[in-house]
Amino acid sequence: METKQVEKAYVFRLYPTEQQAELISKSIGCARFVYNYFLARRSKYYEETGETLGYTKCSEELTLLKQTKEHLWLNEVDKFALQNSLRNLDTAFVNFFRECQRGNIKQGYPNFKKKHGNRQSYRTNFTNDNIKVDMETCQVKLPKLGWAAFRKNKKQTTFPTEIINATVKRSPSGRFFVSVCCVDQVEILPEIDKCVGVDMGLKQFLILSSGEPIENPRYFRKTGRQLAQAQRRLSRMKKGSKNYIKQRLKVAKLHERIANQRKDFLHKQSTRLVKENQIICLEDLQVKNMILNRKLAKSIQDAGWSDFKRMVAYKSDWYGRTLVQIGKFFPSTKKCGHCGEVNPMLTLSEREWQCPVCKTIHDRDQNAAANILNEGLRILAA
Ligand SMILES: [Zn+2]
Repeated sequence: METKQVEKAYVFRLYPTEQQAELISKSIGCARFVYNYFLARRSKYYEETGETLGYTKCSEELTLLKQTKEHLWLNEVDKFALQNSLRNLDTAFVNFFRECQRGNIKQGYPNFKKKHGNRQSYRTNFTNDNIKVDMETCQVKLPKLGWAAFRKNKKQTTFPTEIINATVKRSPSGRFFVSVCCVDQVEILPEIDKCVGVDMGLKQFLILSSGEPIENPRYFRKTGRQLAQAQRRLSRMKKGSKNYIKQRLKVAKLHERIANQRKDFLHKQSTRLVKENQIICLEDLQVKNMILNRKLAKSIQDAGWSDFKRMVAYKSDWYGRTLVQIGKFFPSTKKCGHCGEVNPMLTLSEREWQCPVCKTIHDRDQNAAANILNEGLRILAA
């Protein structure tokens, strides 16, 4: 079997000791401090000189900063955590400059990191065996932290030898995770001759060009309802009270459960599509359902679609499949798959429609998926 070298991340739930948990929180705090400190520094530097303070300069300043009396505490945590924070900041600026060049001046200026934001993490780099994963004892070794326990994964017994970096996270509900990124091998799948067009359904999650709908799992709705209820309850409580804090934790846990359920579902569906088809055609952007779906369902589904596309993209790359993205201006829904006529009169509520020219009756979503497949194959041929 032919294999391919890829970068793969393995996530484990961490069970740190009290001391380790404290150090993790401290590391996250220090990384946030460095980010915010240099964000302010870079902003001010630009205001004063009209020039950019780049990563290398910031890194030099950080070294000096760590030697000052007021900032000695920065030395208590993993030095890579701080350096990577600077790198993240630099990436945020690079993205911002790119948007500026495209004319989106108001978008994307880096923000200060909040103490209670959703993304609480720090990243460390691999060097001289400072990160190790022991699948037998279920422990991971991290710089400054030492060996920390993680939850056993029954399916996994071995671990790749070449580690690149590790990210330690604390979720809003207070759980700890480590994501270890390593060089791994995946088996390239044998070539097959099936291809598929995929459209995001109005009611279903997806519609395939074969006509097969892929439904959102029922539990999405159930947990979604639970979350809405919990959030309503929270909004009625007195901020900062004991009950409020308890309820906020409950909301955070529900958010995490929904995110996990969604991720599992998206992984299953994307893997299946990639395994079963040689060519996968997707639409680049999906705006058409945004009006119809209600708020909560919408946010779950919207987030789902972009994650799904990302998964299909990297899995296609891993397994030797071809992904074709169709431009957002292609009229996949309004075009008749039979004669090519574009029907501008089609409204959002019409599930079925008849082509005014050739009189073919279309199922709205299936017709769109079929159009996406044809357009994808056309692009490939051209
Ligand atoms: Zn027609």
